[in-house]
Amino acid sequence: MQTTIAFDDIPVLEPGPMPRAFHLMTKPRGAICNLDCKYCYFLSKERLYPDSSFRMSENLLEEYIRQYIEAQQVPEVTFAWQGGEPTLMGLDFFKLAVSYQQKYKKPGMRVFNSFQTNGVLLNDDWCAFFKENDFLIGLSVDGPQAIHDAYRVDKGGEPTFSRVMRGRDFLEKHGVDFNILCTVHAANAPHPLEVYRFFRDELKTDFMQFIPIVERANETGFQEGEAVTERSVTAEQYGQFLIRIFDEWVMHDVGRVFVQIFDVALAAWSGNRPGLCIFEETCGAALAMEHNGDVFSCDHFVEPNYRLGNIQHTPLAEMVGSKRQWEFGQDKKNSLPQYCRDCEVRFVCNGGCPKNRFIETPDGEPGLNYLCAGYRAFFNHVNRPMQMMTAELRAGRPPANVMLMLAREKLELEKRFAKTGRNDPCPCGSGLKFKKCHGKSR
Ligand code: SF4
Ligand code: SF4
Repeated sequence: MQTTIAFDDIPVLEPGPMPRAFHLMTKPRGAICNLDCKYCYFLSKERLYPDSSFRMSENLLEEYIRQYIEAQQVPEVTFAWQGGEPTLMGLDFFKLAVSYQQKYKKPGMRVFNSFQTNGVLLNDDWCAFFKENDFLIGLSVDGPQAIHDAYRVDKGGEPTFSRVMRGRDFLEKHGVDFNILCTVHAANAPHPLEVYRFFRDELKTDFMQFIPIVERANETGFQEGEAVTERSVTAEQYGQFLIRIFDEWVMHDVGRVFVQIFDVALAAWSGNRPGLCIFEETCGAALAMEHNGDVFSCDHFVEPNYRLGNIQHTPLAEMVGSKRQWEFGQDKKNSLPQYCRDCEVRFVCNGGCPKNRFIETPDGEPGLNYLCAGYRAFFNHVNRPMQMMTAELRAGRPPANVMLMLAREKLELEKRFAKTGRNDPCPCGSGLKFKKCHGKSR
């Protein structure tokens, strides 16, 4: 039997630095969803609100939109709708949201909407609306049918793949922009190329994200304890999954397929900020709001200890610009173990998300990221191609030139392999004998 979790008293907020822009993930239907994906970290949040109807009221919607726009000091603002499953609010709710956005937007301000969905309820009406209002849709798919259906099931435990593909077809029919959000877990981690090629060739998507499932094995659903479920991806699996996809991408798809973590890496290698909170030095500018107006420090910390207040009682800007929230973001940097501070890929990794920092470093310091071995392997693996792409960017040429450069190198190497004896050093420069390296398979 699940227990109800009581909230602590709302903290008194002292003012802190206010970010110029921030992101707020909004859950108008709370944790309510029409599916029952086995690894979902959010379904357990239903316990936080035992007597709730889990529906954001129209008054609260208007108040939220007014405050969110007012608090932003930039000319572009993005509303991020998530869940649970936001389509369960019904289309009229989002028509109203768009009308409030028009009512409150500042002169010259551009308003965008992103909408994360499992796709099951999408139809002509939804997709015509998305197209008309320029929504960017994130569609959750974990791979081809057998892989997707391993964990993404409905409330009756039935597979969902065909219903999701039906939703995807509606998106395509109406020309709606969408990208794929794929979680990486025990069932799809061994099949990186199958997953990637399915998205690229069958779903014809040109933007994808690969989110690791690191699911804590506990009763609360909070970020606590050191054990993970068997559904979770291991660090090594995640690293290899990314490496295999990267190797395919860097030879064939640069400039036409966009994989979020590859973009993050290229940004970091070329001296820019990674642009994704988990790889930033500090965080704290990506908050979450529940259906009743409760605001939390982050979508991954929708827990009583991280509740900043409620927009019906405390202005959103006050919560975002509070010392407490600022400290939450600074902690990401301040709690970094020495092992990370000395790491050669720290400039791009920054220790990853604090929610996954629950293992020890080899010398016993707590606070290392569970995914460390995977991140380290991946970022080291991409070092050389990233340097090549960065050099192209700096020379004012497209980074996609890397494909031609690597293809030429490969051809050159093949020629040298053909002339190499079994006991000669391998021409790839590994220092191994040819028969132990690239000559192994010949
Ligand atoms: S805790 Fe993790 S997910 Fe949340 S804002 Fe920080 S880095 Fe991002
Ligand atoms: S790769 Fe590992 S050691 Fe290096 S910064 Fe990331 S988490 Fe820390």
